[in-house]
Amino acid sequence: MERRRKQPTGKGPAEWFTGEVWIDPIIQGEPTAKLSIGAVHFSPGARTAWHSHEGGQTLYVTEGRGVVQSRGEDAVEIRPGDVTYTPDGEEHWHGATREHFMTHLSITEGPPHWGAHVANAQYQESHPR
Ligand code: MN
Repeated sequence: MERRRKQPTGKGPAEWFTGEVWIDPIIQGEPTAKLSIGAVHFSPGARTAWHSHEGGQTLYVTEGRGVVQSRGEDAVEIRPGDVTYTPDGEEHWHGATREHFMTHLSITEGPPHWGAHVANAQYQESHPR
């Protein structure tokens, strides 16, 4: 058995995120496994860029109020306990709502592929009313 103390929280890079995003890694491709899990903390208005995941991604919201949107679909609000699965290669973004923090666990088995940022106008427009 291996026990590790909590690692320092890392800042989400500006190439991949808009606004303040902080990441607590939980597991990252331990030997013989591809599974990665991280707790991602979004401040109000913060969100990922458009991206997809090899092998898909499961999100599990633990705190706050968030938004997810797949390309060509309406944005959807997500709340604690909600599970969102995005299939392999499907373009999407996720983040906090304008007025709330949001934390989700990100569960993946392959690397992300990053695209354009979600512009302010696009974020406002796609925000659930
Ligand atoms: Mn994603």
